[in-house]
Amino acid sequence: MTTINKLQAPFINGKFQQTSTSTIPAINPATEEVLAEVSTCNAAIVHEAVQAAHQALANGKWSKLLPNQREKLLLDYARIIENNEADLAELLVLEHGKLLVDAKKEVKAAVNCFRYYAGFTTKIKGDTLEVSLSGGKHFAFTKREPVGVVGAIAPWNVPIMMYAWKIAPALACGCTVVFKPSEETPLTALKLAALSLEANIPEGVINIVTGTGVETGQAIINHPLVAKITFTGSSATGRIIGQNAAKLLKKFTLELGGKNPVLVLEDADFSKVPAGVAKGIFYNQGQVCVSGSRLFLPKKHFDNTLADMAAIAQKMPLGSGLDATTKLGPVVSKGHFKKVMSYIEQGKQDKMEVVSGGNCPFDKGYFIEPTIFANVDNKKVSISEEEIFGPVIVAMPYEDMEDLIAKANDTPYGLSASIWTQNMSKAHHLIDKIKAGIIYVNSAVRSDPNLPLGGYKQSGIGRELGDTAIDAYTELKSVCISY
Ligand code: NAD
Repeated sequence: MTTINKLQAPFINGKFQQTSTSTIPAINPATEEVLAEVSTCNAAIVHEAVQAAHQALANGKWSKLLPNQREKLLLDYARIIENNEADLAELLVLEHGKLLVDAKKEVKAAVNCFRYYAGFTTKIKGDTLEVSLSGGKHFAFTKREPVGVVGAIAPWNVPIMMYAWKIAPALACGCTVVFKPSEETPLTALKLAALSLEANIPEGVINIVTGTGVETGQAIINHPLVAKITFTGSSATGRIIGQNAAKLLKKFTLELGGKNPVLVLEDADFSKVPAGVAKGIFYNQGQVCVSGSRLFLPKKHFDNTLADMAAIAQKMPLGSGLDATTKLGPVVSKGHFKKVMSYIEQGKQDKMEVVSGGNCPFDKGYFIEPTIFANVDNKKVSISEEEIFGPVIVAMPYEDMEDLIAKANDTPYGLSASIWTQNMSKAHHLIDKIKAGIIYVNSAVRSDPNLPLGGYKQSGIGRELGDTAIDAYTELKSVCISY
């Protein structure tokens, strides 16, 4: 059993610094027990963290290491995280509620992400350029330099993966980081930061500040020594962060929400569709930015597919993520529970048909049944328009391909889509027509460090993961030598 310090302090300059008296409780969403009290960092504490990151950048102990020295340290860090998989996964279940099996997969994904970006340290490059300048000879080239101190602000849905997605590429590029985990799930980030010391990552390279978005998050954005903001969270918060960062002319990337369509064609393999679509919405209690939450079915297969999905949903035992028989854990917090339940109630009031679920079965813990609404059609009701970020899917029939494309794209979001068909020419047609940053064909909710993630429309600005992250965490310098 993992042990949890009852008072958790921010991690600054290689140490846990007990600097604040105000705290926010970290709560186990399955039992509603307080796991720990976590310090809130005000602007003064954030300043200390940014100073530490700035100092670590200026002293060159990280940015000026040889690339293969940085590579080795990142690989060491990956191995140490891997060795601590059991403790990290259990802590993740306790603070978040997800299933232990998924928590272990999340730790593995973070390890893979650190290994992937360790490989990039030795491959960051510029170009030599032909220029048409008169007056002598000219040698022109580009080189990449670390963008500087990175301020990273993360959500709660995949806390360990978020830590890796932001910190691994930033460190590979030679940057230093001030990372703010969500106030709902700060414990795993603090534990991961402590493990960085075992890997000999120099002090000040990774700093963790805990607290609310309005206080701690804004202090990061406003700090003059933070060069770049990387944010993942809701589109509403992203809008505020983008505005504030733009006012200060800081670089920023925004990875935001989605209301992602699932497009099922008549020729799909219906022996796989119900389970595949159910996984795509109920995995992690539907708290995944790329969850497929709007299901478009051909009329001919509408009732049967929903009946099969309902049978799957009704066989998903709810309970603690630590119980091996559980298939659906609680949602992350009381506030989020209320939000998801209010959408379900609104759907019922809007006279949408509940095919399955729609209730909270227990008195304790933030449990919500996997919920399927049918015949929502393309009416503009809140459950079909807004991101619920819970185990709730709305199903609608469509007429033909044109109707399907129009309905799937009829949303301000554009994060992901999943297409179910055995006809690859139809799949390619839809891939071209659907406005989404990532498209899955005959699968859902997949992630790989080499697969960039980001949104069209209001789902974000910029991309995370893949080699695009190297652009995001470096400045490109052009040089022209005349001789
Ligand atoms: P959120 O926007 O409420 O909070 C995200 C982070 O921002 C938290 O750390 C929070 O403390 C901070 N924050 C809140 N207000 C702030 C402010 N005014 N200034 C600075 N920081 C502030 O999101 P959430 O509820 O934690 O996460 C769920 C959302 O994240 C969903 O919309 C989901 O789709 C999105 N998400 C997107 C991706 C992606 O890659 N596109 C991945 C995961 C989650």
